[in-house]
Amino acid sequence: QTILNKQNIENALNDAFNKFKDLKEGKNADYIKELANVDPNIFGIALVTADGAVYTKGDITSMVSIQSISKVFTMAKVIEQEGSQFLQDKIGVNATGLPFNSIVAVEMHKGDKINPLVNPGAIATTSLIRGNDSIAKWKEIQKIQSDFAGRQLSINRPVYISEASDNLRNQAIAHLLLAYNRIYFDPVQATDLYTKQCALNVNVKDLAIMAATLANGGVNPVTKNKVVSQTTVMYTLPVMATAGLYDNSGIWLFNSGLPAKSGVGGGMLAICPGKFGIAVISPPLDESGNSLKAQKVIQYVVEKLKVNPYWIE
Ligand code: GLU
Repeated sequence: QTILNKQNIENALNDAFNKFKDLKEGKNADYIKELANVDPNIFGIALVTADGAVYTKGDITSMVSIQSISKVFTMAKVIEQEGSQFLQDKIGVNATGLPFNSIVAVEMHKGDKINPLVNPGAIATTSLIRGNDSIAKWKEIQKIQSDFAGRQLSINRPVYISEASDNLRNQAIAHLLLAYNRIYFDPVQATDLYTKQCALNVNVKDLAIMAATLANGGVNPVTKNKVVSQTTVMYTLPVMATAGLYDNSGIWLFNSGLPAKSGVGGGMLAICPGKFGIAVISPPLDESGNSLKAQKVIQYVVEKLKVNPYWIE
């Protein structure tokens, strides 16, 4: 308990920053052309406690597109509105164990066993957001992402345009889902909403506040706004634990014990339930599409602060 004090947290962030700042491995995502142009040297860490104390180190002003991390909050919105059974029935919650953009899981089970945190399940989850048309749905999506962050998030236009002009694979996924009746809105518009959601701009502090809102049972610890219920959080975190880092999720959980989510923009966040949310931005990725430095930093901080939930003192 007492280990989570100001001094220890600051030391852990400083040490992690210095230890990994010169690491040069990994490579920006480039299948979305605009992401290849993002400065690979952006490196920032933020930790926000469940009672709203904010700690940061490094670059906290640069923004990157949220990408896959947005999937968590759109899923949370669907759980909040429709319940956990609905998510299980309409999408699925088992990890696919496959790369984020794989079509294999859809084809193997006729769209019945997909996951909200990788592309097919994420596009289908986005299609479940309530609203009569695309504009109404987008409002809901932008609002839930912004409520978690505690400020109005806006779209990174160049990233959105770049991905929208080049996302044939996601469009194919959406149409394949339609063929199996497992997408719940027009596939072209659902893919567009999903692409927009992935293009929302965030800095590292935004991500840490989003994570801290989950760590705090659904109440944003900075704005004090109740964003989702504790029950929604209870069903959101396990999906992150089992599928938050694509096909690397098992290795991540093995090494950290924490639910987390990464995005190909270089952001990553992790939740220490009841204690804090932590986030890192560093664009160079590993083969699965996870920020290399982010994984190392968070793992280091988890060890330093002894917050792996499977560690029994
Ligand atoms: N918008 C990206 C895509 O669909 C998100 C991928 C990710 O962050 O994993 O390819």
